[in-house]
Amino acid sequence: MERLLRRWRSFSGPLLSRCPPSQPPLCRAYHHPPGRVKRLALSRFFQPQNLREDQVVGLESRVSELTCKSHRLMLQTGLIHPAGPGCYHYLPFTVRAMEKLIRMIDQEMQAIGGQKLDMPSLCSAKLWRATGRWQLMGKELFQLQDRHNKEYCLGPTHEEAITSLMASQKTLSYRQLPHLLYQVTRKFRDEPRPRFGLLRGREFYMKDMYTFDCSAEAAHQTYDLVCDAYGRLFDRLGLRFVRVQAAVGSIGGTMSHEFHLPLNIGEDTLTACSNCGFTANVETLDPKQPNCPVCQGKLAETKGVEVGHTFYLGTKYSSVFNTEFINAQGKPSLVEMGCYGLGVTRILAAAIEVLSTEECIRWPRLLAPYQVCLIPPKKGSKEEMAIEPMETLYDNIAEALPQLQGEILLDDRTHLTIGNRLKDAKKLGYPFVVIAGKRALEQPCHFEVWCQNTEEVVFLPKQGLLDLLRKVQVV
Ligand SMILES: [Zn+2]
Repeated sequence: MERLLRRWRSFSGPLLSRCPPSQPPLCRAYHHPPGRVKRLALSRFFQPQNLREDQVVGLESRVSELTCKSHRLMLQTGLIHPAGPGCYHYLPFTVRAMEKLIRMIDQEMQAIGGQKLDMPSLCSAKLWRATGRWQLMGKELFQLQDRHNKEYCLGPTHEEAITSLMASQKTLSYRQLPHLLYQVTRKFRDEPRPRFGLLRGREFYMKDMYTFDCSAEAAHQTYDLVCDAYGRLFDRLGLRFVRVQAAVGSIGGTMSHEFHLPLNIGEDTLTACSNCGFTANVETLDPKQPNCPVCQGKLAETKGVEVGHTFYLGTKYSSVFNTEFINAQGKPSLVEMGCYGLGVTRILAAAIEVLSTEECIRWPRLLAPYQVCLIPPKKGSKEEMAIEPMETLYDNIAEALPQLQGEILLDDRTHLTIGNRLKDAKKLGYPFVVIAGKRALEQPCHFEVWCQNTEEVVFLPKQGLLDLLRKVQVV
């Protein structure tokens, strides 16, 4: 600790003396007259935009790996930037979309009683050896040692960590259960073949929930509760999903389901029976039995990208760590567990893959990083006079519709034509683009509004525009 402090002092000393707290460095962007809305200007954003196809290909070291639409579009529009095989910088627009997705996940998990926590990424090998998974996961684990030769892995999942945490609660009573604990953190997996951008990376964000119940029956109810919450999340995102019976793999347990977005580039083959509604990942079926195991009907196959996975674990982990609660008879008893994953960064990429056109990103409405983009006319053009009304419009929207504050972007790159900026705006997928063209100089002033969901352009006076934007939902 002392050494850490010493190091911190020697590091922070010169910084502090260069930049005393009483005189913070001045930055024009953060100084506004009091009471006025702060305008978000696109020209100030850190976003490498408008990369040509060949430039994008050059970003990835392995050209052949640039094989899917979401990967290409996200690189081209400066949403992500490669940092190494299967690792990406998430740039500001992506982080905004991800924060929105996490807010929605928080809402759904907390609506069923979920409590959020945050566990270390450095996971002790001792715990992983206790469950036998240190060997089982093998090379997929990023393994490392500290200076005392203690072994760790960078956590791909946290069953060991949370079950031993729960085991330390010696006075846990049946009255306190169920506990539904979850986190949204970075996960690590040494993928042999990272590809498809954020769809199969080596470092990614996941929501993982672990549930603790006092009986198998209660744990099954919890299982259904979490699966229903997943369904509600995908419904709110407007994403069609399939839930299939799945293999338990290295996580283990006795029952498992995967949530997939149907996609041709998907690496899983799913099968469905149109007769009885049975669905499964084909890896769970006996290849010698081509028919539906429930009704013997014909099975049809599709491809899917896995975005969620649920496991009924029973006492697989609690028996290893002796994770007990005191039951109604006053006796210690093993907790019944479940675990539930959602691929946060993968949902983002898979949604873009499903919804986008070849040239333009489409977000689930609620996740669009910004809801509205305002495009004032080009400097030096006939409509130049409309630059100021556009800035006023920005302030008017932000004042009249406080829910949209922080959701409106001004594309102030007025050295570019309206057409060029509109093309960029369509590519980035703002739900609404407002343009001040010729008719912005008429009396009354009319703005050109491009609505993404209808692909239509409408001309609206200021009040009409406010009425339209009033309906925009944000999370
Ligand atoms: Zn069937």
